[in-house]
Amino acid sequence: MKRNTMVETADTPSPVAPEDASVSIVVPFLDEASTLETLCSRIQAVMETLDREWELIFVDDGSTDGGGEIAADLARREPQVKLVRFTRNFGKASALSAGIAQAQGDIIVTMDADLQDDPTEIPRFLERLAENYDVVSGWKQTRHDPLGKTLPSRVFNRMTAKMFDIDIHDINCGFKAYTRRAAKRLNLYGELHRFTPALLHAVGFNCTEIIVQHHAREHGHSKYGTKRMIKGFLDLSTVKLLTRYQSRPLHFFAMLGLPLLLLGLGFISYLSVLWLLGLGPIGTRPLLFIGILFTVTGTQILGVGLVAELLQASGLRERDKYVIDEIIQS
Ligand code: UDP
Ligand code: MG
Repeated sequence: MKRNTMVETADTPSPVAPEDASVSIVVPFLDEASTLETLCSRIQAVMETLDREWELIFVDDGSTDGGGEIAADLARREPQVKLVRFTRNFGKASALSAGIAQAQGDIIVTMDADLQDDPTEIPRFLERLAENYDVVSGWKQTRHDPLGKTLPSRVFNRMTAKMFDIDIHDINCGFKAYTRRAAKRLNLYGELHRFTPALLHAVGFNCTEIIVQHHAREHGHSKYGTKRMIKGFLDLSTVKLLTRYQSRPLHFFAMLGLPLLLLGLGFISYLSVLWLLGLGPIGTRPLLFIGILFTVTGTQILGVGLVAELLQASGLRERDKYVIDEIIQS
C-alpha cells in the first residue's frame, strides 16, 4: 500500500474515508505465539472478500515466547503483512501508537491478538464508519471473561461514559475502527489506549459503537489483572486533565489553590484585626498556624499552575489543540 509522503500533521485536513477506502489492521501483541498464524489467516480470509486495499501490521511488544519470530515469518511470506518489533515491552498504548504511525490505510482498525476479537466483524466496522463516523468502538455485550474482570470493567465504563459525556458502553474494547484523520490524531502513551473514544470525542470527532462477538481466551493468559482496574481510575483523572484542562492548566490548579489561599488570608486577617484591637495575644492560636499553612500551600499550588501555563505556552503548538474538518477554496 503506497501513500504520498507529504508530511501529515494534526492540521492536515483529510476527508472522511470513502466507501472503497484502504484498510490498515493494527494488532499489538505480547506473548501470543499460539494465535498469530490463525489470526493472520482469518484476517486474510475476511479481507479477501472485500474489494479494498489492505495491510496487516503486527506490533511485537517485546514478546519472549517466540511470537516475534512467527510474526516475522508471516511478514516475509505474506505481502500484506508487516511487523514492527519493539526492543522490549513498552505496553499496549505504545504498541498501538507505533502501529498507527506505520499505517498507510484510509481506515485504521485495531484489534487484540488473542482471538477474542473476531475478524469477521471487520466489514461491519467499515460499514458503520462509512455512515460518517470517525470512530467505531466495539462493544463486547456478552463477555467471556471472569466476573472479577467484567464487574469492575462495567463500573469503570459507566463512570467514563458519564465523565466524558459519551454514549459508549465498552470504552476499553481493543477492537475499534478509526478514520485516518482520527487515528493519526491520537497521541497514545501509558494507558491512554483505553480512552481513545473519550480523547477523540473531546476534540469533536463523531464516535459510535457496534456490538461485537467476544470469544473466551483459549490460548495464553490475560496481561491485565484486577490490579490494573485500580490504576484505571487514576488514568481517568489523567484523561480528564488532558481533555478539559490541557490548554488552561491554571484553571485546574486554581480549583484547589485559590480556596486555600483565600481561606488562609481570611484567617490571618481576622487574627490581625483581633491583635490590632488589642483583644489578646494571637501568637499561640492554632488558627494562626492554619492560616499560614493554607496561605503558603495555596500560593504554591497556584505557582505550579502558572508554571504549567508557561510549559503549555512554550511546548504545545496551537495546532495540536484543534482539528480542522476541511478547508474549502474556489
Ligand atoms: N498486549 C500488548 N502489550 C502489553 C499487554 C498486552 O501488546 O503490554 C496485547 C495482548 O497481547 C493482546 C492485547 O494487548 O493482544 C490485549 O491484551 P489481553 O488480551 O491480555 O487483555 P484482556 O483482553 O484480558 O483485557
Ligand atoms: Mg484478551
